[in-house]
Amino acid sequence: MRRTLILSLVALGLLLLAAYGVLQLSSARSFQLFGELVARVETDRPVVALTFDDGPTPDYTGPVLDLLAAHGVAATFFLTGREIEENPEEARAIVAAGHEIGNHSYSHPRMIFMSPDAVRAEIEATDAAIKSIGYEGPVHFRPPFGRKLVVLPWHLWRTGRTTIMWDLEPETWPEIAADAGAIAEHVIANATNGSIVILHVMYESRQTSREALPAIIEGLRARGFDFVTVSELLPER
Ligand SMILES: [Zn+2]
Repeated sequence: MRRTLILSLVALGLLLLAAYGVLQLSSARSFQLFGELVARVETDRPVVALTFDDGPTPDYTGPVLDLLAAHGVAATFFLTGREIEENPEEARAIVAAGHEIGNHSYSHPRMIFMSPDAVRAEIEATDAAIKSIGYEGPVHFRPPFGRKLVVLPWHLWRTGRTTIMWDLEPETWPEIAADAGAIAEHVIANATNGSIVILHVMYESRQTSREALPAIIEGLRARGFDFVTVSELLPER
């Protein structure tokens, strides 16, 4: 009886450990099972890519575009298909301003235990939405929540897509995310050649990230960095 109990506990422990391992693997920033993943590009050139996830939204697309235009910066926006369909004018404004558009899925699910058909539908519906706003540039993919496991990387690999992750994520730490100055400081201090910065600027809750943008741009320029889009960064490898 006791032996059964011990064996059961050991089995449970191993299961939990395996589940934890799978979760860790699914959110790894610089590894996936199939295909190409880029979190930063090894380059001698002082270039950094600013990337913005989610949206577009009616309230914050305009202000962010104005700010980037005022600083002469081209960025990469990973948009969801659903939000492009809901806010086509804002999406077109991003394209018209000359920024790069990336595919961030249609409905922003955690794409780790989805069927191949569901994965394909998420990606293709978003491609169609991106096309519908007149964008003709390269389209890379960024997984929602940075999550990918088996089916998603497999699909991306089979369709010749690069997964774009990041090496600088100031919003991950609550104490940094709560303060615009801290966000800017974190990015400026930790950026290296070929860094990819992830920020969320499309929702009300990310006021500090929007406020940090001018300081990030000015601070990185002061360190000698130029800004490039993701597709301008990839050939540097
Ligand atoms: Zn997202």
